[in-house]
Amino acid sequence: MSDELEKWIAAGEIAHKALGKAIETVDEGSSLLHLAESLESYIRQLGAEPAFPVNISVNEVAAHYSPKVEDRAILQPPAVVKIDLGASVDGFIADAAITITLGSSHTSLVETAKRALREAEHVLKPGVDLGEVGKRIETTVTMAGFKPIKNLSGHSMSRYSLHSGKCVPNVSSSACGRANAGEVYAVEPFATNGRGYVVEEEQGSIYRVSTLKVTGEDYLDFLLRELWRRYRGLPFSERWVHREWGERGMEALKKLVSKQRVQLYPVLREAGNGVVAQFEDTLVLTQRGVLNTTCVLELFKR
Ligand code: MN
Ligand code: MN
Repeated sequence: MSDELEKWIAAGEIAHKALGKAIETVDEGSSLLHLAESLESYIRQLGAEPAFPVNISVNEVAAHYSPKVEDRAILQPPAVVKIDLGASVDGFIADAAITITLGSSHTSLVETAKRALREAEHVLKPGVDLGEVGKRIETTVTMAGFKPIKNLSGHSMSRYSLHSGKCVPNVSSSACGRANAGEVYAVEPFATNGRGYVVEEEQGSIYRVSTLKVTGEDYLDFLLRELWRRYRGLPFSERWVHREWGERGMEALKKLVSKQRVQLYPVLREAGNGVVAQFEDTLVLTQRGVLNTTCVLELFKR
């Protein structure tokens, strides 16, 4: 096996274990901040880096919610909780997500998102039109009486790149091209009882360096270089900036955003405030077949 393949697999195993830990620990009264930080430390303990901040998106929040430095939110039932996390081993990434319900009656929605991932995984193979994967997701979700989220999609990945150019749509689409052997994909169906698309909130806590172009201000340029050295193009949390560089770092981070050196990912909310469920796996397409590195659905088998 190639070194690269070993690293994709190692990252996948770590993401799988971290989601297993999430299932054990998520409970009524859990602090989102504590949960995110303990999952991030667990990923480090297992020998990877978080490929992005742990996302804990609840109910109508579809994605990109990661607790801020002084986040006081706790999980209160009824809640449909998406845990989306990533592990990076030397830049080789696993991106995986599960949905956990707390005292919620949305079992059918959650089971539908789960089934949509399983169905998508039957379709995705080298040579297949990625639109076919979207079509299968859309059919599975709509047949169950829900909607897929049409403006969120899976994505190809490469070393240090979470979105390396191709998409895996959640609806039928002809815009995505074909999957090829040698590519790696995150497949992530989202199902909702809302309108079927997400809108951006004003705020967010997840960032990535978008360009290394100097600003001419010493501290900003120092921080920009440090952020690139640590995370390359991968997303990072303002919590991590605060931990390392305190309030001064936080202020500089905001300036880097306004100067368009750093990109902020806004929180994404379902447009009709529908409840959202999501499952996600990372799949490596090899000449000899498809390797599921994260196998999140196995976490739910007894
Ligand atoms: Mn993800
Ligand atoms: Mn993803």
